[in-house]
Amino acid sequence: MASKSMAQNNFKALVVWLILNGRTEEALALLSKNYRVNLPNLEVGLPKGRKIKAYGCYTAKNETISVRNSDVLMNPFVIIHEFYHHLRSKAVDRMHRGTEKNADKFASSFLQEYQEAVKNVQNIT
Ligand SMILES: [Zn+2]
Repeated sequence: MASKSMAQNNFKALVVWLILNGRTEEALALLSKNYRVNLPNLEVGLPKGRKIKAYGCYTAKNETISVRNSDVLMNPFVIIHEFYHHLRSKAVDRMHRGTEKNADKFASSFLQEYQEAVKNVQNIT
């Protein structure tokens, strides 16, 4: 990322890139700053009573994104999906908000921008 404006233009791509490279904490810091929300906690291991099938979940009460295992820390779709719940549950009542469909759409928009950025780089080189 050469300049500030370039980083801003590629914000979503950068977030995905960071997660793919295991820099998930940095990605969450960037997301929180961009959307002006608290930095969510991140933990490996799902809270008890969760469906084993889930890759991740968000607990609004303690603003924590939990992932099933450390592999999922590098899964941009899951991390961004759970961040969406964080984004939607901020403020007053700390309820879990935002539909699954919208969370998926939010995450997809990041992955799409990343894929486009990769394509552009391939066209240059
Ligand atoms: Zn969800």
